[in-house]
Amino acid sequence: MGKTGRSGFLGVLSQIFKEESTVIRPPYAVTDATFEECKTCAAACVDVCEEKIIRTDSMGVPFLDFSANGCSGCEKCMEACSPNVLNDPQWFVQAKAHISTMSCMSHHDTICFSCKEPCMENAIVFEGMFRPIIIPDKCTGCGYCIAVCPSAAIAMSA
Ligand code: SF4
Ligand code: SF4
Ligand code: SF4
Repeated sequence: MGKTGRSGFLGVLSQIFKEESTVIRPPYAVTDATFEECKTCAAACVDVCEEKIIRTDSMGVPFLDFSANGCSGCEKCMEACSPNVLNDPQWFVQAKAHISTMSCMSHHDTICFSCKEPCMENAIVFEGMFRPIIIPDKCTGCGYCIAVCPSAAIAMSA
């Protein structure tokens, strides 16, 4: 397969992979949070998020968008949430990153280490030198590895 053909093929796989990603709620949600309060809230969490990763859906319920950045754990969303939907400092992002071996360039003979550098937890290791995998026990769900991946091969799942 030629270079253009391969990138087109990987692009299609990336799109499929993205569509399979699950919705991830903001960190620090209390146990059994339903996010019902969010539907009538001014969504202060969105305004204060220092990484600008909190968005709201059509019902006003917040979710994390890792397409440009990750969660620094600054706790500003929790501090701003007056209904106390976000009020548990021990409960970080409830998701883990995972790499699609179908989409990842390094799994298809093109060396790439883009995801490794932003991972402060060293949760991304390279098997056989070049093929990255994520160690679930180390992944905090911060999401900083997602935006840097040139082939959109990393996604979060709850
Ligand atoms: S500030 Fe709290 S209640 Fe309001 S949208 Fe954000 S998480 Fe929901
Ligand atoms: S902890 Fe900070 S960076 Fe993370 S979602 Fe909340 S406000 Fe944004
Ligand atoms: S989500 Fe964060 S901790 Fe997990 S692999 Fe990506 S950068 Fe590392």
